[in-house]
Amino acid sequence: MNILSINPADNKPLAKHKSHTPKQVRQKIKQTHRAWLKWRNTAFNERSGLLKKMADVLLSHKEDLAVLMANEMGKPLKQGIAEVEKCAAVCTYYAGIAESFLKEQIIATDAFKSYVTFQPIGVVLAVMPWNFPLWQVFRFLAPALAAGNCGVLKHASNVPGCALAIEDIVKEAGFPDHVFQTLLIGSGEVEAIIADPLIQAVTLTGSNAAGSKVAAKAGELIKKTVLELGGSDAYIILKDADLEQATEACVNSRLINGGQSCIAAKRFIVEEEIETEFTRLFVEKMRAKVMGDPLQNGTDIGPQARADLRDELHDQVIRSVQKGAKILLGGEVPKQPGAWYPPTVLTGVKKGMPASDEELFGPVAAIISARDEEHAITLANDNIFGLGAAIFTADKTRGEHIAATRLEAGSCFVNTMVKSDPRLPFGGIKQSGYGRELGMFGIHEFVNIKTVFVA
Ligand code: NAP
Repeated sequence: MNILSINPADNKPLAKHKSHTPKQVRQKIKQTHRAWLKWRNTAFNERSGLLKKMADVLLSHKEDLAVLMANEMGKPLKQGIAEVEKCAAVCTYYAGIAESFLKEQIIATDAFKSYVTFQPIGVVLAVMPWNFPLWQVFRFLAPALAAGNCGVLKHASNVPGCALAIEDIVKEAGFPDHVFQTLLIGSGEVEAIIADPLIQAVTLTGSNAAGSKVAAKAGELIKKTVLELGGSDAYIILKDADLEQATEACVNSRLINGGQSCIAAKRFIVEEEIETEFTRLFVEKMRAKVMGDPLQNGTDIGPQARADLRDELHDQVIRSVQKGAKILLGGEVPKQPGAWYPPTVLTGVKKGMPASDEELFGPVAAIISARDEEHAITLANDNIFGLGAAIFTADKTRGEHIAATRLEAGSCFVNTMVKSDPRLPFGGIKQSGYGRELGMFGIHEFVNIKTVFVA
């Protein structure tokens, strides 16, 4: 079996990679387990030094890595370079701070001494998506290695070049052999890997369908999972908001990575008094974005990552229109080879339409009208997902109150777009998944939080 990379800009094949056989996969898991038996005992200084080197290696290859992402999944170059820089930043962050997160915590009880210690658990399987092909892996890998764990990666089948490049980066940084390995396999092989006794836990970033399958298998075997799944995030725009600033943030959030981001704003819930002006500014800014060759510097949006995903997205648009939504911009598949889809704006979006109820993973914005603030909050929360929401208002205190206590999402931002930051925990509620990555909470997901009690 082969795993093919295809350039979504023209649907032409780029490279063919031979997949690993079940025997090779088993061998690799054994190697990584053996590496872990040593890695778990390394001093933090050693882990930290290697993570810092990994940051340097990433930065030294940032242009090549950005070209690889542009070719395999259509990410514009400048966004690819920013992604590599963020990967380097997460390595540097955990190199500097993980020791303090892993320090023993003394807890006074009736014991002579009682405390909590954080012990590595072993080899973790990472099942990852194509949309941020480097960042999604490094945000798992940096804390995992810092905590003394090891990892094997099953990356999305359309980014095998990125998967292999990550393995090379770990090697070039000087980590001991096999602490991290890429498995070139299809999704049908994942259940067998979860069942391998040497795999202790699974982290999956991807769709709800994949999350559900992986969690079901891991649950059957009592193995821990972290799931980072889809989102249909709501941005609420109240009538006192600065509309220039709000529409700028909304458009940038909707179009990041060609609209293929879990935390991209997807539903724009606007108080009806300002809807006309919001819509005018929003459409103007969406129209100004340049769709084109991801390798050109002026490009804002490349092709969608795969033609089948673009077709699914267009079908969601058509079904929303059939139910009464109006297209103000875009909404047509360009007549050219490749997985292209233009920035698209839908208005009149209501419950029962795909643009309201499903995740639209591409550059399609749904504008939803709300009678007032209370109605806007109800509409925002009336959704199966809960990943990252935002609210725009001139009243920061009011905005903070709504973000902190009313909106149902793992992250809630005020007057700016939702983004991940290595220092802050990241993850969802409801169908957006469970568990957290990044910050202190992220590194504690895959450790044995062990109680020690000395009488
Ligand atoms: P996907 O189709 O679910 O694929 C994600 C990974 O899961 C790939 O490695 C895929 O392998 C694998 N996979 C698919 N079905 C599987 C199964 N039945 N059993 C085991 N593994 C399986 O998702 P995607 O299209 O790559 O990514 C888009 C989705 O990811 C969106 O819903 C997006 O919101 C979500 N996402 C969430 C976050 C977050 O942090 N919450 C971040 C980014 C993306 P193959 O490629 O071989 O099928």
